Amino acid sequence: MSPLPVPRAEVVVDLAALRHNVRTLAEHCGAAMMTVVKADGYGHGMVEVARAARDAGSSWLGVATIDEALALRAAGDTGRVLCWLTVPGEDHDAAIAAGVDVTAYSLAELAEVEAAVARTGTPARLQLKIDTGLSRGGSTYADWPALVEAARAGEVAGRWRVTGIWTHPASADEPDDPANDSQEQVFRDALDLAAAAGLEPEVRHFANSAAAILRPSARFDLVRCGIASYGLDPAPGHTPDLGLVPAMTARATLAMVKDVAAGSGVSYGHTWVADRPTTLGLVPVGYGDGVPRSLSNHASVGIAGKQRPVRGRVCMDQLVVDLDGDRPEPGTDVVLFGTGRDGAPTAQDWAEAAGTISYEIVTRFGGSRVTRTHVDTEVRA
Ligand SMILES: *Cc1c(COP(=O)(O)O)cnc(C)c1O
Repeated sequence: MSPLPVPRAEVVVDLAALRHNVRTLAEHCGAAMMTVVKADGYGHGMVEVARAARDAGSSWLGVATIDEALALRAAGDTGRVLCWLTVPGEDHDAAIAAGVDVTAYSLAELAEVEAAVARTGTPARLQLKIDTGLSRGGSTYADWPALVEAARAGEVAGRWRVTGIWTHPASADEPDDPANDSQEQVFRDALDLAAAAGLEPEVRHFANSAAAILRPSARFDLVRCGIASYGLDPAPGHTPDLGLVPAMTARATLAMVKDVAAGSGVSYGHTWVADRPTTLGLVPVGYGDGVPRSLSNHASVGIAGKQRPVRGRVCMDQLVVDLDGDRPEPGTDVVLFGTGRDGAPTAQDWAEAAGTISYEIVTRFGGSRVTRTHVDTEVRA
């Protein structure tokens, strides 16, 4: 993609770190593992991440959309894949034909699956989702008895096998929030209703990364780990140190170094003015590459082992850092965020500076101008 020996901007994903994280989480949880690879593997590359997760023993992969599930099949993945977000009229036929587990939230979705089964002549693998308090997707508790009855009737009729029943927590990153206990209790009640209707799912599941790590009672048969698989902390301030390693390093190449006089305003609007003569470095990435504009005057980047603060506004294609009199050569490596081992910031550091979560930092960084490379290093635990 880049004609240069060193890319202007690059995402480097360490698949060894990813495998290490998947294995560490599986060992910690003692449940079957679903690695969540939606949104292009949280920006890490869905297909590459999926292969690494399978190598590390992940028996399930989780994605949001049918298209994502089909992309995994097209890349040769033959294992269990669950998807959970459709709109009316979406093509369930292809998912069912490809042996993907689909999720129904409602009788209307069951009817769509039933029609697809009739067209394809293939029984579906169907999971049911109950809304236990997130108030996002999933059946309400009021609608649940009718949904499980209809799902059981369809199972008896041979239209599908109900392979799973699941829900999603609202506040697993705040382990003391009473919503966790309440959601788990509602889930247990919903499982009882499903059992009374005659359903015997292979997997009952509740936990995202935070619940998987912090809440043993929420692990059930399967845990759905996204962010922690990528080595990032799902519940900052609460997560024990499991030795997870951030898999993504975002880097750029220093474009220019220059001296400026005291009183020089930096970048649009001169929101930072040098209070002394200093040296500035031009880093050729900006919000067009997924650097949050809210990092203006807030974040740092790592250059030659030192953190260098962003001065002034982050632009579309570039940002400026304060080198404080040092003069690294243009062409020097700039670590935007990564493992933290080299003294450079992590995605969590950027998230805190931007007022967001690390999920958004890694998922949004990249795009058509950023090279993405997958490497496979040894993890030194
Ligand atoms: C994204 C997602 C996950 C993964 O959440 P993390 O916090 O990244 O572990 C799990 N389950 C569902 C339904 C999701 O949408």
